Amino acid sequence: MSETYQDETQRSATSARALTHFINGKTFEGTSGRFGDVFNPAQGSVSARVPLASVAEVDAAVAAAKAAFPAWSETAPIKRARVLFKFKELLDRHHDELAELITREHGKVFSDAKGEVMRGIEIVEFACGIPSLLKTDFTDQIGGGIDNWNLRQPLGVVAGITPFNFPMMVPCWMFPVAIACGNTFVLKPSERDPSCSSRLAELLKEAGLPDGVFNVVHGDKVAVDALLVHPEVNALSFVGSTPIAEYIYTEGTRHGKRVQALGGAKNHLVVMPDADLDQAVDALIGAAYGSAGERCMAISVAVAVGHIADELVERLTPRVKSLKILNGMESDAEMGPLVTSVHREKVVGYIDSGIEAGAKLVVDGRGHQVSGHEKGFFLGGTLFDNVSTEMKIYREEIFGPVLCVVRVPDFASAVELINANEFANGVSLFTSDGGVARAFSRQIQIGMVGINVPIPVPMAWHSFGGWKKSLFGDHHAYGEEGVRFYTRYKSIMQRWPDSIAKGAEFTMPVAK
Ligand code: NAD
Repeated sequence: MSETYQDETQRSATSARALTHFINGKTFEGTSGRFGDVFNPAQGSVSARVPLASVAEVDAAVAAAKAAFPAWSETAPIKRARVLFKFKELLDRHHDELAELITREHGKVFSDAKGEVMRGIEIVEFACGIPSLLKTDFTDQIGGGIDNWNLRQPLGVVAGITPFNFPMMVPCWMFPVAIACGNTFVLKPSERDPSCSSRLAELLKEAGLPDGVFNVVHGDKVAVDALLVHPEVNALSFVGSTPIAEYIYTEGTRHGKRVQALGGAKNHLVVMPDADLDQAVDALIGAAYGSAGERCMAISVAVAVGHIADELVERLTPRVKSLKILNGMESDAEMGPLVTSVHREKVVGYIDSGIEAGAKLVVDGRGHQVSGHEKGFFLGGTLFDNVSTEMKIYREEIFGPVLCVVRVPDFASAVELINANEFANGVSLFTSDGGVARAFSRQIQIGMVGINVPIPVPMAWHSFGGWKKSLFGDHHAYGEEGVRFYTRYKSIMQRWPDSIAKGAEFTMPVAK
């Protein structure tokens, strides 16, 4: 690991790699003349240049996917699954390499990046079993020699638009399920950490996926808008911030597409007075500061119920101050840098606004320096107490290593506070009372709930999704919900000539 890390440090100091699109099984240099910088956030240096696709390049990717669809959709589901089995083997073999690509461009620590790769692999494992989920219902003899059954058929060309914070896992929420169902795919990954997607395309080809079934176009709003209006794109899966998710849903559905658009979050962790405080503090430290808070399931608000608040803040304070913030490739790093300097400045702006609004700044992460990485986009862990619901740091998603403690008198106030928030991705409750836990999981209006579990990200076959402003659309991601999203339901009624009744029928047919 350290050898590669040194190689990369030297490389990023001297030259920036040129990335390419991946269309119809081949790498494809950008022709738009527009490029974006990809940073190594620990070094603060440019490590790669990513081409930003033109409309014509998006058209080429969609055309390749369209041409590949007839043969791929006619390929037996078990044969499609066999390609994914091989892909899974390759992912296992390249696990560390993919994790390094993530750490190098996103900044999260290597062990966390390895966890992300594993969560992606789990969806591929799920997708290997999709043939059994394409089975449907059959009713023998609904009447008059007629049988009725259903098909789940692929949609055609589908597209995915993904965020920077999980450059491997989030694309894997989409394409393994989509292609196992017989669709062909165009991925537009985040332009901030695009290398992982290009590598996934190469590994899929090595696994035997036919050309054109999976394509990657790098880019920005130009590429996204081209996909939104393209008549050959039948469905769009999006994961990113709420304003863009709402835009994608509105525009995509307006252009007749099936859309699932997962948005931002403001996740609360409620600490009841009877909670095991050691466990609750560990949970908060990992869930608020892991991946520098750049997770859609990060906990950004601790809701301290009753008398527990003082002790909770007291115990959190030294832990936040002693976070090991280093280059993510260092083996003992607990937290790495933020993804870009622009994002770092945005988070600093939120800390400033919390102070101005009168929240108590218990630990200030501004000005945190990492020796040897003075240009890196680092920020220390930050802790606010006495945060109230009208403050901007409570209302908006910060997406950085900032934890806000809100104090409430009782359980009912905690539930009321959380249910009033416009985001509803994940939530967590720490308690030793089963009755309270049960009431919480039933009353809380949130898509994913953890009881004594800080980040309740569902397993591959359980589907992922929030409510309210955290998800626009009807389907959660991956799992059986993913199979439903990427297939169209068809009902077939059949009767053979020897059983056809004589003469025309002018009344509605009913079972006899
Ligand atoms: P983002 O919304 O800025 O970008 C997401 C994607 O949209 C990228 O591919 C980007 O190129 C594209 N995009 C950005 N601006 C656009 C525009 N104006 N028009 C069209 N396309 C545009 O999100 P991000 O900063 O990359 O990721 C962080 C956000 O994603 C956070 O809000 C986080 O909560 C959210 N997220 C949500 C989930 C979830 O499951 N709900 C999971 C991961 C991340």
